[in-house]
Amino acid sequence: MKDKMAEHFREIIIDLGEDPNREGLLDTPKRAAKAMSYLCQGYALSLEDVVSGALFASDTDEMVIVRDIELYSLCEHHLLPFIGKAHVAYMPTGKVLGLSKVARIVDLFARRLQIQEDLTKQIANAVHSITQAAGVAVVIEAKHMCMMMRGVEKQNSVMTTSVMLGAFRESANSRQEFLQLIRRK
Ligand SMILES: [Zn+2]
Repeated sequence: MKDKMAEHFREIIIDLGEDPNREGLLDTPKRAAKAMSYLCQGYALSLEDVVSGALFASDTDEMVIVRDIELYSLCEHHLLPFIGKAHVAYMPTGKVLGLSKVARIVDLFARRLQIQEDLTKQIANAVHSITQAAGVAVVIEAKHMCMMMRGVEKQNSVMTTSVMLGAFRESANSRQEFLQLIRRK
């Protein structure tokens, strides 16, 4: 699989007008295939793999919020990175997730070919399906290399997407509290 991908990268290097036998490029197809496989490793994992039992009983019904989760993904239109932060909150109904697991759920979906809107929704739905929370909120703020390095070259534009489920959709107060907490420095 990786050998085949390396072969494709070699062809791309040729199509770009480069010499794949030049010293600096000799191992590039292999390295690029390895990097690409790493960046897309989310396809090889399931939600169950990632959570692996780290779901704990708790009687809290207060909002749990994990903010500023580093996010690295690849846009499915250009295969270029988009980079930013995810903020995730949920209202537990008896079960809470291990802290690191929220970040791992973000990675599970970010390490695939994505558009930011779908990524936001997939994270929210996954947190909901695992915790059965009364509400889930996800906000992603990201910069897209396909905008910054090509096309319109808008270097400072940040795209923000949000998905609100359950209590966060129904209650303006809960939504407001979440939004204030992620804006606080
Ligand atoms: Zn793009």
